[in-house]
Amino acid sequence: MRSPIWVQQALVAVYGAWWYRRRFNPAFHRIVDEFEQRERCTADQFHAYQATQLATLFGHAAKSAYYKPLLTALDTRDPHTALAKLPFLTKETLRRSATQLLTATPPRGTIIQRSSGTTGTPSEIYFTRELHSFELAVPEARNLRWAGVDYRSRRVMFGARKIARWDQAEPPFWRVNPVESMAYCSIYHLSPKNMHSYVKFLAAYHPAVVMGYPASLTTLASFILENGLRLPSARAVITTSETVTAETRRLLEQVWGCKVWDRYGAVECCLFASQCEHGRYHVSPDAGLVEIVDAAGKPCAPGVIGEVVATGLHNMLQPLIRYRLGDAARWAVDQSCACGRAMPILEAIEGRFEDICVTPDGREVLRFDTVFKGVATIREAQVIQRAPDLFHILVIPAAGFSDADVRTLQANMQLHVGDVRTEIVRVTEIPRSSSGKFRAVLCELTAEQKRGLTGRV
Ligand SMILES: [Zn+2]
Repeated sequence: MRSPIWVQQALVAVYGAWWYRRRFNPAFHRIVDEFEQRERCTADQFHAYQATQLATLFGHAAKSAYYKPLLTALDTRDPHTALAKLPFLTKETLRRSATQLLTATPPRGTIIQRSSGTTGTPSEIYFTRELHSFELAVPEARNLRWAGVDYRSRRVMFGARKIARWDQAEPPFWRVNPVESMAYCSIYHLSPKNMHSYVKFLAAYHPAVVMGYPASLTTLASFILENGLRLPSARAVITTSETVTAETRRLLEQVWGCKVWDRYGAVECCLFASQCEHGRYHVSPDAGLVEIVDAAGKPCAPGVIGEVVATGLHNMLQPLIRYRLGDAARWAVDQSCACGRAMPILEAIEGRFEDICVTPDGREVLRFDTVFKGVATIREAQVIQRAPDLFHILVIPAAGFSDADVRTLQANMQLHVGDVRTEIVRVTEIPRSSSGKFRAVLCELTAEQKRGLTGRV
């Protein structure tokens, strides 16, 4: 039986209070302070900090069943050199051997967080109280505060959390947690029919910070603009988990009258990157050590797209060393930023590594922003590579979408991708991943097909 909404709301408040105490505790404030103090470190100071943390990490890791044989024979006097000799940790290994990675009996209060992967078997991450505080403290120091807001600001979140049952037809599609000054909104009910109630709620709630998946915020923002509605301005829009296109950024900034501050992290707490006031993505080298590697596992030169690999520097209970995240990114060629921070700069986080498309002439393509140039009548789109020379673009058309737009898309594909067939498929909905994320690009080629086209291993 379903409980009435007021009961659910009360439960959210009680759960919220417990959750708040678990995370916004003295450890949270200590970690925020530490990250703020290190913010102006030089590159050498960050390197030295990493060396110290890596040495501690290896010391703990040597007590785990998985790492012990790997570390016993390894000379760890120079931790960075030693790290480069360790094998990559795949998601598959983490799924199969989560407990083998443990370095000690989990302390009281440890919560096992299961994250469902695309293959179905969830991976288990052991969250101690400390790691939960860490998970919030790093974005607090390096994302919210950079944006001029903090955890006490009134926030609204459009994330994966299931707020309301899928078949709930009437509002509220949100739950307010007063202790946290946070309203959680369902992203699964953002249909044209429900949109007015969301807008009404947001106007009344008046958040200072709007957070969430860019695709969900875009759906809402497009509706607001198309219907000539207005919302009170916010102080910051914080996006996470999906690639933010220039178009999305422009739209969100217009609707909320403030800047978009994107961040990039992982549920496994092994890396963190966020945009500074100049819009560049700085990796926090004191949160996790990030590498970008090619298909053969070799480091990519700046400007070259590769897979993100991270070593978490703070999870001593379940070390994730050289963990392959499956995301694709590039180091910026220009590593200097006007903000003066000596934190490595990513040019862009491109999407899923496995979704890099390969053209018939062997070029790798992931971002398709330019394909949508000159077409303003699309609500949402997804590019799918079905075969080396066949692409489908799923389109949720907005009013006015015409055959001329279809031809523009096809012409843009020719320009951007090359000699391929492009079919435009009109749809009413684009399915999300199991965690509710929108995928802008899907590549259905096998690894073998890709290797054949690029000629690389
Ligand atoms: Zn910067």
